[in-house]
This record gives sequence, structure tokens and C-alpha cells, in this order.
Amino acid sequence: MKFYHSAATALRTISREAVPDDFAEVEARYPFLANDYYLSLIDPADPDDPVRRQLFPDRAELADEESEFDPLAEARQMPVPRLIRRFDDRAVLLTTSRCAMHCRFCFRKRFWASDLDHPGDLTEKDLAAVAGFLRRTPEIREVLLSGGDPLMLPFDKLRHIIGVLREIPSLFVLRVGSRMPVVLPERVTQEIADYLGSVPGLWFLTHFNHVNEATDAAMAACARLIRAGVPVLNQTVLLRGVNDTPEKLEALFRKLIAHRVKPHYLFHVDPVRGVRHFATGIDRGLEILRAFRPRLSSLAVPTFAIDLPGGGGKVALQPDYRDGDKFRDIRDTRSIAYEIKKL
Ligand code: SF4
Repeated sequence: MKFYHSAATALRTISREAVPDDFAEVEARYPFLANDYYLSLIDPADPDDPVRRQLFPDRAELADEESEFDPLAEARQMPVPRLIRRFDDRAVLLTTSRCAMHCRFCFRKRFWASDLDHPGDLTEKDLAAVAGFLRRTPEIREVLLSGGDPLMLPFDKLRHIIGVLREIPSLFVLRVGSRMPVVLPERVTQEIADYLGSVPGLWFLTHFNHVNEATDAAMAACARLIRAGVPVLNQTVLLRGVNDTPEKLEALFRKLIAHRVKPHYLFHVDPVRGVRHFATGIDRGLEILRAFRPRLSSLAVPTFAIDLPGGGGKVALQPDYRDGDKFRDIRDTRSIAYEIKKL
């Protein structure tokens, strides 16, 4: 596996086109990172390729110097370093700040932007403090291992972290949030899949954004997990110019459910500095959900949500079918009364 730390070098491996002048300036602020697998998914003949847009620098990243890097207030919601607690019964553990690529839309861009402190990998001291807090707080039943990407950790370290969490009697569910099946599927080895499958209550959340990412290799990585007994869910970010039409998302979601991967969440882009040019507006997400209603199985339709600034948490949004005291039908052609008789 080869990694690229220069967008110009990466572009030259797939295309003879001229390297844009502004790559270097954008990379100085938001460093480039790719691997040759994800790079190979790009169609070099298509300037609007959806994978290219997620991977290569864009001058628009520099347009916003006012938004915060952490508008969701994650850093302020840590009772101990690296553990984010926003909800009563669950918490997020930041296991590493490393990833197998740098997604230009990343809501934790602060983990890899230049001139900022990056947390690196979870230390033994941090893990002990986290485990101590979780033992003292038994109302937390579920922990999401996040990052960065937890599968960037050496397997022994990942197994050790999960092993420590498994010893906490009040934790019933662990989630591993990883984009590795999408961006570097070979990392989801049979050994890792078998281990994760041996952990009771463990779920895997991955992150496909476009059907072009759902390659045979990616689906095989998901299949290794599923065959090992790990339920696999998917989160998608609604990205302008990448997947912001019903047709594009339908193609992705149909492919995922055909491989037993459940589309779980569709997120609007967070108001994070350097990513807001990907935002579509909330109405676009609602329009897409409405378009799905008559033609896409509920198995394939994720929950559309926004993550509120200031630590307000995820709020699910639905199209409104009310029309006065009636309801619009699923094809939006007429309003129908729904009478409830009191017996
Ligand atoms: S893999 Fe996830 S955490 Fe890493 S850069 Fe991409 S979106 Fe961000």
C-alpha cells in the first residue's frame, strides 16, 4: 500500500492534466493524504468525479476563516481527556487522530489541519482515566470508538482498548466507527473481522458517500465483518457536488442493502471551518427523503440528521406531510384525511 502526502504527486499518477496552482496553498493549511486504493477509484476523465471531490484540495476550503473548528463543542464535553459525553447513556472515545486518507469534508478537520495540536493515538494513561470514569458512571451503556479511524491503530492496540472496555460491567454495547472498508478495505483483515465478531454487543459503523466507493473490495470487507457476526451500519454525509441527488443516494443505498449494510444516518455537513462549501442546505436533504418515500424501501432509507452546534446533539429531521388537518400522500398529489374515532 502506497500513501501520498502531495496532491500534485497523487494527481500525476492518475492523469496528465495540469496540477492546479492552488493545491499547494490549500495543502499548507489542510494537508493532503491519500492511498493508492482510494486514488484508483477516480475516473481521471471526469473533472466532477465524486471520489476526486472528496480527496483533492479545493480553494473553497480557504474561503471560510471565521467558522470554528469545533462548533459541536466536543472539547468542552469531555469529562476526561478523549472521552466525549453528550448523551446520558453513551460516549465517544477518540482513539487516534490518524486516518487512511484526509477527507476534505471531515468534521474533525482540526485533527489534521496545520498549526493545530493533534491528539495522536490514545495513551495507556488516557485509557486508564477513561476506564475509571466509565466505571464511576454506570449509566453510560455504550461507547463509540472513533477518531480519526480506530483501524489505523495496530491490531494489538485496538484489541487492548476493546479488552479494557469489555471489563467494564455497565457497558453493553461498543461501536467501532471506521471508514476503512471504504478507503482501504484490505485493512479489514479476516483476523480483525473475527476478533470484532467475537466481542458481544459490538457494532461496526462505516461511511460510504457514493456508489463509486462501493467496490467489490469494499463490499468484501463489509462481508468479512458480517460473516464474522458483526452488524454493519453506514453513515453518509450529504455533500454538494458528490451525492446531493435522490438518484445518486438511491444507487448507493440500494447497493448497501443488497450487501446487508444498513444505511443508518444521512448527515448534513456540520458548520466546521474549511468544509462548509460542501453544505447543501437542510431543505435539500428533506427533498431527497421525500423523493425516496414512494420508491425506496425503508430498509434503504437512513435517518436524516443535523448535529446542533454548541453540543446540542443530533436532531433527526423528517419531511412534513401535514396539510392543515389532512396529510399529503407519498407522491404529493393529494391531501387525505386521517380520522381517528374515539371509541
Ligand atoms: S476517515 Fe473520517 S475522521 Fe478520517 S478524515 Fe475521513 S471523515 Fe475525517
